Amino acid sequence: QTILVTGANGFIGGHVLKEALKKGYHVRALVRTEKSSQKFRTIFASYGDQLSWAYVPDIAVVENYASAFENPPKPITAIVHLASPFTMAVSDNKRDLLEPAVQGAVAILEAAKKYGSASLRRVVLTSSFASHVDLTQGYRPGYTYSEKDWNPQGWETAELDSATAYCASKKLAEKAAWDWIEANKPTFDLTTIEPPWVFGPHVDGVEDLKKLNQSSASLSQLLDAAEVPAVDFAGFVDVRDLGAAQILVLETPAAGGQRFLFGSHFDYQTAADILRENVPELKSRIPEGTPGAGLTQAVYAIDGSKAERVLGIKYMPLKDTLVDSFAEFVGAKKSA
Ligand code: NDP
Repeated sequence: QTILVTGANGFIGGHVLKEALKKGYHVRALVRTEKSSQKFRTIFASYGDQLSWAYVPDIAVVENYASAFENPPKPITAIVHLASPFTMAVSDNKRDLLEPAVQGAVAILEAAKKYGSASLRRVVLTSSFASHVDLTQGYRPGYTYSEKDWNPQGWETAELDSATAYCASKKLAEKAAWDWIEANKPTFDLTTIEPPWVFGPHVDGVEDLKKLNQSSASLSQLLDAAEVPAVDFAGFVDVRDLGAAQILVLETPAAGGQRFLFGSHFDYQTAADILRENVPELKSRIPEGTPGAGLTQAVYAIDGSKAERVLGIKYMPLKDTLVDSFAEFVGAKKSA
């Protein structure tokens, strides 16, 4: 069986590739340019023909995906769609965040219908907790987010800050994908995966703290910070759990047609407490804040139990994720 993976060169993409290859799947990795394929070509060289590459210069153009479906080593049974902009460094929210996210999600489904064969059974779209959270409600103490929630914001967020627009880009993309399925009734089904912050080690390590992906950059702001940052997303999942889950949803028939919210509580004070307690050499580099004042009660909760139940996973504790993440940050050659 061959799995197509878009956004294959990203932080999560590396772990999806690793997990799929380890489990014996053939993987066709989709990236924008040949250059973007280089680091993982080297890292996964021992898998030989099990890993092949295709280039999709613009994720919003259906025809760009044609070559990805040509001559697969084994029939293509699934698509894992990760490619979507996750950066706050944009100059135009609509052009740089909302449009590529939404148009990319629809284009991969159109491409699946146009170029996929009868062997294609499932498309997995990596959405986000961003498509659940209602930012207008703030910390919302006492509330628990689950699969039933939808972020109420939409295209109007193009006029707001880029973090709000990013959240809307994920919601609109996921909504467009479910609407497309409803309208087209294809022979394959859709599963959406909704992680909050994804933290943990990189398959290719960390060389330069200034070139981190967005979620790792957010976590790394704790290092040498003057004070403990305020809560942004009050949830996290380890990237290794998420990589495994992306493949497990393909192997679990009951996951078809489902949304899965992942993870459990996260806040920077709790993270600071854990790091200062467990990693002695970080004590002088992580702000103390108010130990024990983690916001568990003062902020909404995330119910990620459906994914554990249906997929049979058990989330890694925050301590392991933090220790492994900061080992990379501290070891980076070009430290902040
Ligand atoms: P990365 O930034 O590491 O990877 C993003 C991937 O998407 C890269 O392959 C990138 O390609 C590709 N991409 C981004 N913008 C475009 C575009 N306009 N056209 C084509 N390709 C594009 O992020 P992650 O691996 O963390 O994120 C992967 C997915 O997971 C995204 O959909 C993100 O929204 C989602 N997600 C991530 C979370 C996290 O905390 N990390 C949390 C929730 C959801 P290139 O290198 O060429 O730019």
